[in-house]
Amino acid sequence: MKLYNTLTRQKDEFVPVEPGKVGIYTCGPTVYMFAHVGNFRAYVFSDTLRRVMDYLGYQVKHVMNVTDVGHLTSDEDTGEDKLEKGARQEGKTPQEIARFYEKVFFDDAARLNILTPHIVCRATDHIPDMIELVRRIEANGFAYRTSVGLIFDTGKYPEYAALSRLNLAEQQAGARTTVDPERRNPSDFALWITNQPKHLMQWDSPWGRGFPGWHLECSAMSIKYLGERFDIHTGGIDHVPVHHTNERAQNFAATGKEVVVRWMHNAFLVINDTRMGKSEGNLVTISELEKLGVAPLDFRYLCHTALYRMPLSYTAESLKSARNSLRGLVDFGRNAQVWPVKDPAWTEPFQREFKEAVADDLNIPQALAAAWNIVREGNQRQDRTAWAALLDFDRVLGLGLERLVGATPGIPDQVAELVAAREAARKSKDWAESDRLRDRIGELGFVVEDTPQGARVKPRP
Ligand SMILES: [Zn+2]
Repeated sequence: MKLYNTLTRQKDEFVPVEPGKVGIYTCGPTVYMFAHVGNFRAYVFSDTLRRVMDYLGYQVKHVMNVTDVGHLTSDEDTGEDKLEKGARQEGKTPQEIARFYEKVFFDDAARLNILTPHIVCRATDHIPDMIELVRRIEANGFAYRTSVGLIFDTGKYPEYAALSRLNLAEQQAGARTTVDPERRNPSDFALWITNQPKHLMQWDSPWGRGFPGWHLECSAMSIKYLGERFDIHTGGIDHVPVHHTNERAQNFAATGKEVVVRWMHNAFLVINDTRMGKSEGNLVTISELEKLGVAPLDFRYLCHTALYRMPLSYTAESLKSARNSLRGLVDFGRNAQVWPVKDPAWTEPFQREFKEAVADDLNIPQALAAAWNIVREGNQRQDRTAWAALLDFDRVLGLGLERLVGATPGIPDQVAELVAAREAARKSKDWAESDRLRDRIGELGFVVEDTPQGARVKPRP
């Protein structure tokens, strides 16, 4: 299997840290507002990665955090805590805000068939782990104090810009609008913040009462659950220059090691050439999508139409096309229920094509093409083997085809055999036999309709 690594800017062979196993950490939501479909592109990506690894036979451990403290309104350590700002605006406590939006997030994720990660960890439940990590960072000489709190000294880590590949001047220009004269380097960031007495969520620490910087939770929790060297860290491409760069620096400062072997980032969802984001004011949530008549799984299909590293175009056209494609697969599945299993071997080349595609840096568009090849060939052959192959692919695609098709009840084998016999009779223009078989199917409580895609059978109303 080959996967791209943002750190090396190369697609190379995936070699797990532990044979047969893979550890994946995904930066989860900051739960102070509804997640939008642009956010969910990232979670469909990490879910698909997990499913592919499982499909290829790895034992997967997927960890995702929930940020419920410390993410300030700028990605730097200035401004207000997003949770506390949300709480103030809605007249609630930060905990109420966090639990509410966390629940909505996981409900939305479930409607997208995103599997719940094996471990979901909240920042506020891991404050002692974060404090412990900062102790190690400080003991290794990577931290200093200012009036803000305890600050990470990025100047101590020569590899600091390796992930973003920005030179320090570019990094600083992009990241910071005001210069803090107390900081040794403009890219230095807070590990523990002690100068915000109005902040509602505060904890005691060796550096005084305060709260963690945002980047800290992901370092602390990924190391806690996946160890000091793990396989894959995912997130949106916007995390590269600051959040993941700082996580990586903390990891090294605490452990003296490159903790994350492979960083994988998805590109943005774009509307009219603009990224979907809060500051762009063009957010669409999963609920709003449904009001537009688009099912969450139509959106999941849309995500599969582009490589994860390429921008994905979100337009009325592209959504409609995704919806029609998904319906096509479901219609095919319904038709296939009444076909007999003829030759179990003909789908094998397409299954190989599918497996090769997903193992080539998650080339899901190519994998979908293999699925559609099976649909075309399956329609020719009228062989239910095609359906079994599609269900196998759906372990990766996560479109819930079995459930969508199963919205119509199962067809007994006896009926399926009669339908197949009737098809054969029709082909040989034996209309009397065809009619006799139709009546027999009717006696068993089913009606058969002839469509351009072949016979379709359903329970008699
Ligand atoms: Zn993170």
